[in-house]
Amino acid sequence: MLRPGLYVHVPFCRTKCPYCDFYSECAPERIPAYLGAIEREAHLRREAHPAYDTLYLGGGTPSSLSPDELATLVMGLRSALTLEPGAEITLEANPADLGQPLLDALAALGVNRISVGVQSFDERELRFLRRRHSVSQARAALRRVRHQGFASLGVDLIHGLPLQDWEPWRQNLEAALDFEPEHISCYGLTLDEHTPLGQAAKAGEFELPSEAVQAELYLRTSELLTRRGYEHYEVSNFALGPAHRSRHNQKYWHGEPYLGLGPAAHSFEGHSRSWNHRTLDAYLAALDAGRLPMQGFETLDAGQLRLEELALGLRTVEGVSLQVAAQNPGAPALLTRLEAEGRVQLLPDRVLPTPRGFLVADAIARMLA
Ligand code: SF4
Repeated sequence: MLRPGLYVHVPFCRTKCPYCDFYSECAPERIPAYLGAIEREAHLRREAHPAYDTLYLGGGTPSSLSPDELATLVMGLRSALTLEPGAEITLEANPADLGQPLLDALAALGVNRISVGVQSFDERELRFLRRRHSVSQARAALRRVRHQGFASLGVDLIHGLPLQDWEPWRQNLEAALDFEPEHISCYGLTLDEHTPLGQAAKAGEFELPSEAVQAELYLRTSELLTRRGYEHYEVSNFALGPAHRSRHNQKYWHGEPYLGLGPAAHSFEGHSRSWNHRTLDAYLAALDAGRLPMQGFETLDAGQLRLEELALGLRTVEGVSLQVAAQNPGAPALLTRLEAEGRVQLLPDRVLPTPRGFLVADAIARMLA
């Protein structure tokens, strides 16, 4: 039976990165109230889905919680919901937090995937991003995670920084590969204009690499990691074979159900989507009053579901069925052109994006919509 995935948004960070537009607060004194609220929300949601085969602790910075706070969080979830034996349990971590006490606690809690937000192995790049960790902290954290024997180590990197071309970026990739991670995520830096770095870019304080340079970085990353045994299985994600893909994130891309707990978390239920209050204040107030902290809800009609299937499917190596892709009169000619351009591969019953197709996955989905 298909089990849903469980996502928990941990909305706390020790410092706020100037490029980030995720919801998070630097307010550790609010963590106890948040932990109580998550447990209450898990109990309120239990009826819809009591059992899960993935748990993803994301944020924010889940690793900014202490070992005791993380234990309270996971035990609170387990008091309401069942995590099946063999469940994939992922924690996103900042390298500066991954000391031995936290790693011991995570292993004891059954966490088996650690996704480490290294972002860069270049000290100047880390300073530009104003990350709170150093390169030496990142290397030490990766060594400790490896040594601890977690089933999967993931390294997250950011490319497309000012003045970055292939050589410095290649060195970042090689530095990550030294740790033989099972999973690598490479995100292009995008700057929302409401963030401090977005404002600085708008004021002309620096320039991001041109679109052509960013496309080159992207395609050469795909080539290099594929040569080194990784499967480019989603726009930004690489795994050492299908067994090491993120089982949880695949639920999002495959349109499978998931429950999101915590402020700003989203849930999906086959034909409907809901989302929680974005701020901790509104989230806590709803749960204190004994209400679900849901801010919005929508039911998707057949047209919207097809659009989602196109947009999400074309982000993954499995692509979409030809039946879904070729519903418009212009679709066959468009698909033939995209195949000639090396953007997709056409099978008798499926459309599979290539890495060049991943580069423009959203645009292809819009054209086929
Ligand atoms: S640590 Fe992550 S979630 Fe927190 S501010 Fe930085 S990028 Fe955003």
